[in-house]
Amino acid sequence: MRKYLLLLCFFSLLNLAYAQDMQRVRSHVNTLCSPAMQGRGYVNQGDKIAAAYIGNAFKQYNLKPFRGDYFQHFNIDINTFPGNVVLKSNKQELKPGIDYIVDPASGPGKGSGLLFLLDTAIFSDVQARTRFLESRLNNKVLVYHSRDRVKLAALPEVVYFKMQEAKALIELQDGKLTASLATEQFNRPGFKVLEESFDLTAKRISYELDANLVKNYTTQNVIGYVEGKVQPDSFIVITAHYDHLGRMGEEVYFPGANDNASGVSMMLELAAWYAVPENKPDYSIMFIAFGAEEVGLVGSRYYTQNPFFPLSQIRFLINLDLLGTGDGGLMTVNATVFSEAFALLEQVNRQGDYIHPLAKRGKAANSDHYFFSEKGVPAFFHYTLGGITAYHNVHDIPETLPLTKYSQVYKLLKDFIAALQR
Ligand SMILES: [Zn+2]
Repeated sequence: MRKYLLLLCFFSLLNLAYAQDMQRVRSHVNTLCSPAMQGRGYVNQGDKIAAAYIGNAFKQYNLKPFRGDYFQHFNIDINTFPGNVVLKSNKQELKPGIDYIVDPASGPGKGSGLLFLLDTAIFSDVQARTRFLESRLNNKVLVYHSRDRVKLAALPEVVYFKMQEAKALIELQDGKLTASLATEQFNRPGFKVLEESFDLTAKRISYELDANLVKNYTTQNVIGYVEGKVQPDSFIVITAHYDHLGRMGEEVYFPGANDNASGVSMMLELAAWYAVPENKPDYSIMFIAFGAEEVGLVGSRYYTQNPFFPLSQIRFLINLDLLGTGDGGLMTVNATVFSEAFALLEQVNRQGDYIHPLAKRGKAANSDHYFFSEKGVPAFFHYTLGGITAYHNVHDIPETLPLTKYSQVYKLLKDFIAALQR
């Protein structure tokens, strides 16, 4: 009995040493999503604060830098909303983040105008279109529905130019708000408002929006590695973007828990594991926290154009983005492109009985793996399926991030990485 207990103790200790640390994961996610990180965007240098945090973690885990430090700098143009964000219908103030978001390419402005609802007859009726083109818009706030955007784009350009005469634009959204970033700026404010939060009978719309297009803002990727003990010139690369959508005014920021504090924490867990001398891998393992993914995969594209060693030395790249759920399984982008590697992934998943279903799709330019696989680097992008649906809005918070299959994904990745080195 005693012997058995001892054995049990030994195995649970072993288990502990091999398990990733959920408390540490939660702590990384909470910190990355905290107000101090400013939504990991470009107001108040949120990107630099987040990058420094990841650099510190790399240092703590004894990752090696390639060039003196862990940072690879590059420049972006970025439209930002550092100050006032106010939208009122009549005298009623709408809630930023909840009722509305700012159009990413919105220009600054302060003022008010009469609500002018776009007449959808302009799509079919030439007379209605002529009436619209002859109307006075420079004292109006023009309101249209997002479902008409495609139809609007199909109309003659004069309609588009006419719309630009309005003092401000409001695009009504069904059901949810999805924020994004822009690298340019219109010359007037634009808002995206939830249809259910908007009173179409209001007479007057007032607004105040502080928008600042920052040119040549310097941001960064964070890069470190563990040297392989057998074939140090061969690399397995684990990537996750740390940037998110930043601030929308003084009161609102986008925490980005699932997108992508979840992936960054997973990357850090793997870094912590391989950095321990007993776990030293045969190949070198490189860890990249990409910047400016939300700007349009800018950090990862920059790296592929300015790599630290020839891209041909990358045996495989694993990109992690949106790993906070898993009730619906795990998706692999590029699975059908690199089908042999996917068969290997399926095999280790079956052996460990980790996560089901293991869903697959072809190539997609939807995260940081893209420019690598376009340049011939074998690469997967993994994201979890099911669970919460908060995405690119203020509701993507750590408190509701379930991390349902987090440990299973961690084990799957570790087994896959081991199998890739065989
Ligand atoms: Zn993302």
